[in-house]
Amino acid sequence: MPERKHVVIIGGGITGLTAAFYLQKEAKEKNLPITYTLIEATDRLGGKIKTIHRDGFVIERGPDSYLGRKQSLTKLIENAGLEEKLVTNETGQAYVMSGGKLHPIPEGAVMGVPTKVGPFIKTKLFSKAGKARAAMDLVLPRREGADQDISVGHFFRRRLGDQVVENLIEPLLSGIYAGDIDRLSLQSTFPQFQDVERKSRSLILGMKQNIPKASERPGTYGKKKKGQFLTLSSGLESLVERLEELLEPESIWKNKKVSGIEREETGRYRVELEDGTNTHGDSVILASPYSVAKQLLPEQIRVDEFHSTPSTSVATIAMAFPASVLKNDINGTGFVISRKEPTTITACTWTHRKWPHTTPEGKVLLRCYVGRANNQEIVFESDEAILKAVLNDLNKIMDITSEPDFYYVSRWIQSMPQYEVNHKQLWQKLQDNLSAHYPGVYAAGASYEGVGLPDCVASAEKAVTHIIKTLR
Ligand code: FAD
Repeated sequence: MPERKHVVIIGGGITGLTAAFYLQKEAKEKNLPITYTLIEATDRLGGKIKTIHRDGFVIERGPDSYLGRKQSLTKLIENAGLEEKLVTNETGQAYVMSGGKLHPIPEGAVMGVPTKVGPFIKTKLFSKAGKARAAMDLVLPRREGADQDISVGHFFRRRLGDQVVENLIEPLLSGIYAGDIDRLSLQSTFPQFQDVERKSRSLILGMKQNIPKASERPGTYGKKKKGQFLTLSSGLESLVERLEELLEPESIWKNKKVSGIEREETGRYRVELEDGTNTHGDSVILASPYSVAKQLLPEQIRVDEFHSTPSTSVATIAMAFPASVLKNDINGTGFVISRKEPTTITACTWTHRKWPHTTPEGKVLLRCYVGRANNQEIVFESDEAILKAVLNDLNKIMDITSEPDFYYVSRWIQSMPQYEVNHKQLWQKLQDNLSAHYPGVYAAGASYEGVGLPDCVASAEKAVTHIIKTLR
């Protein structure tokens, strides 16, 4: 009988859960002698995925949906038997706040890059000079060294000018990374724009050619042709619960914090726990953020420049109101806010409109974000202080004058990894160090190849594929 091999997975967020699920599935289906232990520091699985059900509301405290065209998560949901619960977002006008006002995001703007002339000329989001500067994209040559990494901010400023960046691109993009766009890596966050410049020179012309027709958008599920995002009507945490049900209970260790990993002479790994005990594995998946992983690894493997800027801290505040709170109900799905505005809120989703299943009839659910790179103090204030600041902004922006029926503040400390310029090269260096000194140890999750839930799932699948190939 072949020797049994054991895999230790560190971290029980979506990355670790996915790794455990696919390892178990592959081992069962192909009759492989592979077992695993999933070690989670806290008393629950799911990491940043947390859902609250209250009075008919479905409230997400962390991620609320995912980009449907990245299919790894949909595949996982199908494997877990939850595809019936998949719902697509309602589309509607989204806004950006600039100069104290909400402006509709001009039709045809793809991540802020204009692709339709009419709406771009009509919008009051930019001055005439700002529009003229953006139009220079049509004639500007390619950047020298177009294959090299550059910050997102520098790249777009050069092509479209400061105004389009500050009033539209930065608020839209920093919503995803909560980062400083003048430090974020273009190659690791939005490589498609670098490709467009390389192939078509002009972003405006290149993006115009690339936009899929609404009917061809792959983000939709089933027959409905709607938005690009998907979620579960039962809440994203229902996926975590289902995956936990499908895993072997004795393979899940909660309330166990890993404190170190040592390679033994046999080539196996000793995984040390904070309580003084340890366990062993032939292979290890580091599915915790890099800030944790680097403390578990010896110095020769760590890459000091990698994630040298700490992840940004943010907080979400979900507020339930009676529908009467909206005196002038704006038809739309929410707004993002330019960094120059003197508001505490950085973005607000009109969740009851974007995701109607989340909110009972006659109610309104708003979810606001606070905290951004270079301005995170608010995240550490009391719940009451955050509510007060957010209501003050909502009063000015949406004329909301009442307190919510109830609200939840969720703090996510150092939760948004900052992929800085040259992230890709540094990530490669880390992988090379691992395979040279700790073969069989893989890093996966939000710190490496994308922060979105489908990226985390895909990275876990990749680690499992490597492990199965090697251990076989
Ligand atoms: P985590 O969820 O952080 O899990 C890591 C786990 O490791 C945790 O459970 C932790 O307790 C455990 N751990 C840490 N240290 C140890 C240790 N020493 N020993 C054992 N266990 C340890 N993405 C989207 O696609 N769509 C969204 O709408 C979206 N919205 C977001 C909103 C917010 C507020 C945030 C913070 C993120 C959002 N994201 C979104 C990003 C996405 O949620 C994360 O990138 C993803 O959940 C990360 O999953 P993970 O498993 O890699 O890490």
